[in-house]
Amino acid sequence: MRFDIITIFPELFAGAFDHGIIRRARQTGIVDVRLVNLRDFALDRHRSVDDRPYGGGEGMVLMPGPLFAAVESCRGAARGRDIEATGDGEVILLSPQGHLWSQPMARALAGRSHVILICGRYEGVDQRVLDALVDREVSIGDFILSGGEIPAMVVLDSVIRLLPGALGNEESTKNESFSAGLLDCPHYTRPAEFRGMPVPEVLLSGNHAEIERWRRSKALAKTLARRPELVETDDK
Ligand code: SAM
Repeated sequence: MRFDIITIFPELFAGAFDHGIIRRARQTGIVDVRLVNLRDFALDRHRSVDDRPYGGGEGMVLMPGPLFAAVESCRGAARGRDIEATGDGEVILLSPQGHLWSQPMARALAGRSHVILICGRYEGVDQRVLDALVDREVSIGDFILSGGEIPAMVVLDSVIRLLPGALGNEESTKNESFSAGLLDCPHYTRPAEFRGMPVPEVLLSGNHAEIERWRRSKALAKTLARRPELVETDDK
């Protein structure tokens, strides 16, 4: 799978992509993540990518010219490469006005071969980018961040860990919160007793059927207490 991330701050991604699962997935070729500096597509010698809003008002707006050029370049590059990408990778704008990001959306995106993420900044992007370039807007929650870079990292991390081979143990995603409709069960590790708090007996019993029943009942109870609306969609 290929991700192109269009941003004015590519250096922000360095730490996030150089550790753990994402780093391993990049190294083993499970995912190809390319950082695209929007300023490389500026149309003037000052490398400007934003301008004042028509009609007046506060803040700056990302101009359409560099964004169209950047997306067209990503598509052209994908077309020229020997990957599944057809050259019409889905274009997603990170935006607080978008559809709320979720595990089912991450799962669906993990099935695509090429995705282009646009990170907004300032007041956002020129409306013509939304009208003619963007396929979908995605929000990571009802709050305002300074830019789309952190939301892009959220999207990337949640998708990459679902790609075949990205995790050491594929089973581990199956019982995760939201994957099977419920929140995850409680987890314990050594020691068997810590500051007077013992690990539940059943987990030490070796009885796998009992352990599975206990985990399921705890997951169900926690979901009913915290997110009852999820139980209706539980498909186990
Ligand atoms: N003026 C915009 C509004 O009120 O809807 C907010 C712009 S925000 C300061 C700048 C950029 O940060 C946005 O274009 C978007 O790319 C990103 N952003 C901010 N909050 C976000 C969120 N909750 N989810 C996804 N992207 C977000």
